[in-house]
Amino acid sequence: MAEGERTDNWSSRRLRAAGADGGLVVGSFGGHPRGVRTSAWPRCAVCRAPMCHLAQIDAGPWLDLGPYHRLTAFICHATGGRCEDWDPRKGGNKVLLHADLDDAMHDGPPTVRVYRRVRLAAEPSVDERELFRIGKERGLTMPQLWESLRYDKLGGAPSWVHGDDTPQNLAGLGPMRLAVQLSTDLVAFDITKGGVAWIFFDPNEPTADAARMLWQGG
Ligand SMILES: [Zn+2]
Repeated sequence: MAEGERTDNWSSRRLRAAGADGGLVVGSFGGHPRGVRTSAWPRCAVCRAPMCHLAQIDAGPWLDLGPYHRLTAFICHATGGRCEDWDPRKGGNKVLLHADLDDAMHDGPPTVRVYRRVRLAAEPSVDERELFRIGKERGLTMPQLWESLRYDKLGGAPSWVHGDDTPQNLAGLGPMRLAVQLSTDLVAFDITKGGVAWIFFDPNEPTADAARMLWQGG
């Protein structure tokens, strides 16, 4: 791997369901999250209900999470969207950052819903500038080019559904960087059909609050 690839904002790896051959398994969608104790299970800041687990991705050469080794994303499904679970800062969703890798299955609280568990493999990295160049040569329009990048992936540029909503560092130190783009293709997550969620990581935020999630409906 080329030096500096991890921080190239145009380098991404597509996520697919891990097959029998395994491949480079980097995490999972749905199921029961590993290493999350009941006491650490996030509750919605709006309605206080325990949130539903969405995804768990490990850090590595495929994903730079600074000092953290894993992220786990949760969302509130208790009130049918009234908790504004699409917002990165209202507490209707939560991204935990883990300092250690703990694969134990701890009990969790009963939640509104549990999604089918799909183990994820990461494909080799691609340079999205190159994908754009190829698409342009084939005559794709800019909206078509962006839509062609709307799949589950690590890193790269977010393929917005309704426009750029990149979260910013609260101290004005710049935009956060895309860690995971999550669609409803592999698992029918209840973020409306065709919706896309994004998990961003803030390299300038020194606390375990450095990851944020938001989503836009299809
Ligand atoms: Zn809620």
